[in-house]
Amino acid sequence: METKHTEHTQEKAGTTGKKKVSRRQFMLSAAVLTSTAVLASCGIRLGGSKAESDAVQSGNASSTPASSTAPPSANATANATATALAETPACGEESTNTPAVTEGPYFTANSPERSSLLQQGLEGTLLTITGYVLSKSCQPVKHALLDFWHADAKGEYDNKGYTLRGHQYTDDQGKFTLQTIVPGLYPGRSRHIHVKAQAPNEKILTTQLFFPNEPGNAKDNIFKEALLMNIRDNADGSKAASFNFVVQV
Ligand code: FE
Repeated sequence: METKHTEHTQEKAGTTGKKKVSRRQFMLSAAVLTSTAVLASCGIRLGGSKAESDAVQSGNASSTPASSTAPPSANATANATATALAETPACGEESTNTPAVTEGPYFTANSPERSSLLQQGLEGTLLTITGYVLSKSCQPVKHALLDFWHADAKGEYDNKGYTLRGHQYTDDQGKFTLQTIVPGLYPGRSRHIHVKAQAPNEKILTTQLFFPNEPGNAKDNIFKEALLMNIRDNADGSKAASFNFVVQV
């Protein structure tokens, strides 16, 4: 992946000709995006019938293939449109960069480019994360690289292949959507998702995203409150999360 990162030669993040976007505008956009993503995710179910052994989250996935385009249920639609997740962390007046934390031992270079890490046979609770990559001044960073990797529902990493690993680029509005599952726990760590974020031609930010209300957060010395996602439980048992990366550009 280092190769991919260093080959990231696109023009510098989309600041030219763009108006500064207010926090409120981003919140509104995020609400729309989140709703859309939730609707999209509601039609996707993971394969496998075995219950999650660690039962860490509610609403285990059911058994339609990941490619299903079944429409969302009425409940899910109502839920998705009724509640918007707030952005986190804030940018603007209280701007702080998203903090870096350790990469850990399980990064694998050259992950496939994909915004969905879902695949047949994967078990777990569906999780859709949406957000933006933003500059310190709250400008969207288009074509920023985001490379995600995390453990499966049992807390195990795929260190031979690329299960639950993938990179993607933000769109022209600086937005990203990741479809995946809630990672399980493994000894010594709270629940987390690893990520590398890189604005075009800028330094790589290596960090981790955390889940609110996890008993392990307080005991995990890598945990930082600024890395907490906002999480919402959907009516269908899946989860919607949001997180904005604020990078040094
Ligand atoms: Fe980890």
